[in-house]
Amino acid sequence: KRQSSSDKIVSLLHKLPQLGEIFELHYKVGEGTFSNVYLATFREVPKAKFAVKHLIPTCHPSRVIRELKCMQEIGGVDNVVGIYMCLRMNDCITFVMPYQHHDKFTSYLYDMDIDEIRLYIRELCVALRRVHSFGVIHRDVKPGNFLYNRAKRKFLLVDFGLAQKVGEWSTDSSKKRKRCSEGENKEPAEVQEQNAKRICLKERPSEIKRAPLHACNENISFIRSFSQVCKEARPNLTNRCECDRKARVCNTCLSRKGGSAPRAGTPGFRAPEVLLKSHDQTTAVDMWAVGVILLCLLSRTYPFFRAPDDVTALAEMITVFGSEEIKSIATKLGRHVVCSETCKPLDLREACKFLRERRRRISNPVDIDIPDEAFSLLYRLLDLDHTSRITAEETLSHPFLAKP
Ligand code: ADP
Ligand code: MG
Repeated sequence: KRQSSSDKIVSLLHKLPQLGEIFELHYKVGEGTFSNVYLATFREVPKAKFAVKHLIPTCHPSRVIRELKCMQEIGGVDNVVGIYMCLRMNDCITFVMPYQHHDKFTSYLYDMDIDEIRLYIRELCVALRRVHSFGVIHRDVKPGNFLYNRAKRKFLLVDFGLAQKVGEWSTDSSKKRKRCSEGENKEPAEVQEQNAKRICLKERPSEIKRAPLHACNENISFIRSFSQVCKEARPNLTNRCECDRKARVCNTCLSRKGGSAPRAGTPGFRAPEVLLKSHDQTTAVDMWAVGVILLCLLSRTYPFFRAPDDVTALAEMITVFGSEEIKSIATKLGRHVVCSETCKPLDLREACKFLRERRRRISNPVDIDIPDEAFSLLYRLLDLDHTSRITAEETLSHPFLAKP
């Protein structure tokens, strides 16, 4: 049964009465996959506003510690959320952060002018430059985690729940792998049992191997091309625009289990190296997500990529960035992608224009003039090769953002 916001507050304060002694909780201001967030004020000095994030009780302890550490060490400056207090009783964990009033992405997406788009991307890169200078990958950069108060032109990057140190995963997993294969696990039986599922799911030998990403029907993956899908769905359609491309993946590929590389984040914002389960993931993962956000802003389209899972996301990426381009980046990462038809990359400027036009017909009477530099930055952010993708620091001196 779904609890109402005030029921949730009552039950939270029941579990954590200390929170209620210091703060008054007003109402829910947001929720994510892992939490409910409430607006709170001090009981004594009611002016200052706080956001109280109540984590779901099944959050893994390592996740909680990581999130807390990031806010403590990195946050509080450069548009990165800081932490005021953490209160815990058993499995009831709350983070108290400064409150930032914010607008919904779709409330400004359709009418931002180019200066506001520039400001938004610049402030996001200021936050990421700070995060990345600590060798930390945020891993969940998306509009829902970048809070924008439009009236005050204030920005805040939140949600370090999926953050990781660069290289953290590869060292962790090689240790675990060693333990698993050598049978050296010295933990007590109960702990072993608890951990078994987690470790072995990740560490099954067959998944450690750099197997081809698609290995079905004798290594042939079947991604139906845009034209095939179009013909089937709308046989009488003529004059279709390339921007309407749809991606499909065969059922065998869809039912395949995930591999052993980190893949945290939201499907539409995952970088190619994440979708291809590369072991070499860096802060460039976040810059790809900035690219997807810029693509949304320049096309006035949200979400831009809609795939519900990784293989479909990859197929969708092929329809935008080209089959040969994706195959070649896969090869570079030691993966093998098989595609049933060749697909040329879209011209992103043209695609954005088409999508803006479509939006304009629905609601927005004026189009924006987008300078070439915006697209040159877009292409640098959406560089399929993460080793040459632009960094947050470099982005800030790119001609599009360097302008006052
Ligand atoms: P999750 O890890 O569950 O995704 P988030 O930290 O992203 O949780 O918070 C969920 C939502 O709560 C955000 O999308 C935002 O709307 C709101 N929120 C989070 N932090 C703050 C804050 N400091 N001020 C105001 N609202 C916030
Ligand atoms: Mg979130």
